[in-house]
Amino acid sequence: MKRKFFFLIVILFSFNLTSCKNVSKVDEPNKKVLLVSFTILEDIVKNIVGEEFNVISITKPGMEVHGYQTTPSDLIKGSKAEVFIDNGFGFELWAEKFVSNLKVKRITIAKNLKPLFIGEDAYKGKPNPHAWISPKRGILYVDILSNALSELKPQSKKVFRKNAEIYKNKLSEIDEDFSLFLNTLKKNQKYLVSCEGAFTYLTNDYGLKEAYLWPVNAESQITPKRMAKVINLVKTNDIPAVFCESTVSSESQLTVARDTGAKFGGNFFVDSLSKKNGPASSYIELLNHNLNLIKKAYSSK
Ligand SMILES: [Zn+2]
Repeated sequence: MKRKFFFLIVILFSFNLTSCKNVSKVDEPNKKVLLVSFTILEDIVKNIVGEEFNVISITKPGMEVHGYQTTPSDLIKGSKAEVFIDNGFGFELWAEKFVSNLKVKRITIAKNLKPLFIGEDAYKGKPNPHAWISPKRGILYVDILSNALSELKPQSKKVFRKNAEIYKNKLSEIDEDFSLFLNTLKKNQKYLVSCEGAFTYLTNDYGLKEAYLWPVNAESQITPKRMAKVINLVKTNDIPAVFCESTVSSESQLTVARDTGAKFGGNFFVDSLSKKNGPASSYIELLNHNLNLIKKAYSSK
């Protein structure tokens, strides 16, 4: 009898505990929302703020970001957000119009970053937006964001700084590792041939020469002249491998590989993370995936 009573107490007590938990979850004050433009930035921001904010990206993994069309539901998200964070340098063609309809603060990475410029085509002379593609610039992204977010929430400055340091150490490791690998390459191998000209920051920061089939996205169509130029470059310099990007067709680059005897080294992730079980579901994974493709293709020659 005593035993039964004891069990009853235990059951009642645990019921009470679980119901308390549920109540506190519902009552928890809603975290403030940081709305970001794309998934890579979402991941970097999450690594800095931890659980302090609710970080939401407008574009989802695998989505086209440059020419994205915002929806009414994006505006609703924007109306509830504390801040809108974007890359800038003309990356989010939709951002200006989007924020003009909202009353949010805005953090734009490009305002604190030195651009490299697009050298050809309709976008010639405009900043190349893809700065995050270089781990060295990724470290600058973390600093810019950690400073701006600390201003936004000074009471969390210490947490943000600490998280940023841990995260930057991981990026520095990737940076150092890639630099060491590049030291082992011969001069003729120090080329990066991709489909799009999205690697300017990487090639610039690591002493590589950049070549591509088209300068910005697939908007500028591949011409026989461009194709011939890349084929000639690969042949003349005996470049061991060529690459493409996950968001565009690699057909033309496969032709370059066939015509030159270079290896097709695989597809890089550039503007967006992959889905959860993909090869680039975080910014760190994206960098590792891209740089490992280069290492693998160049080491096997
Ligand atoms: Zn892009």
